Amino acid sequence: MLRRFEHPVDFLTHVERYRLQERTRVEEAVRAILDAVRARGDAALYELTLRFDGVDLRPDRGSAPAGLEVSTAERDEGAAAVPPDLLEALERAARNIEDFHRPQVPRSWLETRPDGSVLGQLVRPVDRVGIYVPGGSAPLYSCLLMTAIPARVAGVREVYLATPPGPDGRLHPAMLAAARLCGVDRIFRIGGAQAIAALAYGTETVPRVDLVVGPGNPYVTAAKRLVFGEVGIDMLAGPTELLVIDDGSVPAAWLAADLLSQAEHPGGTVILVTLDPARVDAVGAEIARQAAGLPRRETIAASLERGSCAIAVPDLEVAADLASTIAPEHLELAVADPWALLPAIRHAGSIFLGPYTPEPVGDYIAGPSNVIPTGGAPRYTSPVNVETFIKRSAITAYSERAFRENAPAAVRLAHGEGLPAHAASLEVRLEALAKGEVNG
Ligand code: NAD
Repeated sequence: MLRRFEHPVDFLTHVERYRLQERTRVEEAVRAILDAVRARGDAALYELTLRFDGVDLRPDRGSAPAGLEVSTAERDEGAAAVPPDLLEALERAARNIEDFHRPQVPRSWLETRPDGSVLGQLVRPVDRVGIYVPGGSAPLYSCLLMTAIPARVAGVREVYLATPPGPDGRLHPAMLAAARLCGVDRIFRIGGAQAIAALAYGTETVPRVDLVVGPGNPYVTAAKRLVFGEVGIDMLAGPTELLVIDDGSVPAAWLAADLLSQAEHPGGTVILVTLDPARVDAVGAEIARQAAGLPRRETIAASLERGSCAIAVPDLEVAADLASTIAPEHLELAVADPWALLPAIRHAGSIFLGPYTPEPVGDYIAGPSNVIPTGGAPRYTSPVNVETFIKRSAITAYSERAFRENAPAAVRLAHGEGLPAHAASLEVRLEALAKGEVNG
């Protein structure tokens, strides 16, 4: 059952409190993991993998597979084990993801001004990206396609994958097939905060990267926040969130199925905002009925008990305002006219319109990335996209005329800030020009 709130303030406080708790509860443990990897490199990675994933990958243990990096032979063998229908599904998803991202590629630009100066921006991809793909409770190879493909489209040269090993030390065959499909260069079987540390700091086996991207549980998310600055990150893509706005036009059983799809992720938050108070019970009853038949019902029960909740509101305007204040990762507009409601939505990571766009079409097949900010971050940032992997260098080339016209103002600004050496760099040129010592 979804916890029901009568008043919007209590409802928003509940969501915010849960998010704060999730952001902070693992921070101390994560700091210790980051410090260990920074200080002791591979040795710490082996120890932490044994402790948290239960597998001993040390090469001298004699167990197979060994080592932190997945060998070419293991990659080929695993990818070959994927059944043809799953491979076809991966290929279809990959095509849709590439089609969606290809038009996003930005261009460099240069503009020549009337004074002869040239200003512009040079668009360049980052050199080396480390992608984290969750594997703790399910091997989310869909997330690999949804990050590696936009990275490749952006022109990133080297793409690495880090993902936790399974109980036998191996990676899921479909993870290896997805890696082959999008040309991943190196694969490391490392999970959690230790994987983020390895990618950010580098170890004997793992070269440090320029940018770490990808979703994960609170350990992964806290680690990304803490390494930011030493390395770039995409944004914070933590435990999943789904908010559904409901006007009664979509069957309760469908909405319950949608909410359960995200509750089956560990720590998922699912929220119902409805116009009809009776729907809270109707959708809740459907959730209980459907959850009873699902294999991950314990994870679901835990997700439903924690951040998840429901509220009935008087109209769609209030619903849109509450949704925008929460700024959820996923937002379903399960209403008769979703296009009319869309302009009222200010903040949400990925928005799904109408009865035939349940959130899982976005998880797997539609094309927009399923790696999306959580915890309210959609207020200021976006899902993974081509821009995630790109930075812009500013270009300035002054002509003599532009310099003559603009440098005196710059000199005044520099002196005003009390920075005479800044001013001198301009003044030395202005004086030379005044004496006719240079020709422009
Ligand atoms: P995961 O790969 O994120 O985490 C597994 C790792 O966590 C393990 O390898 C282990 O190293 C570490 N870990 C587990 N318990 C620990 C402990 N007590 N101390 C230190 N480290 C520990 O996989 P997961 O746990 O299945 O979580 C995946 C998460 O990713 C889910 O919450 C899901 O909602 C989220 N997700 C988010 C998005 C998004 O775009 N926001 C997309 C997909 C998935």
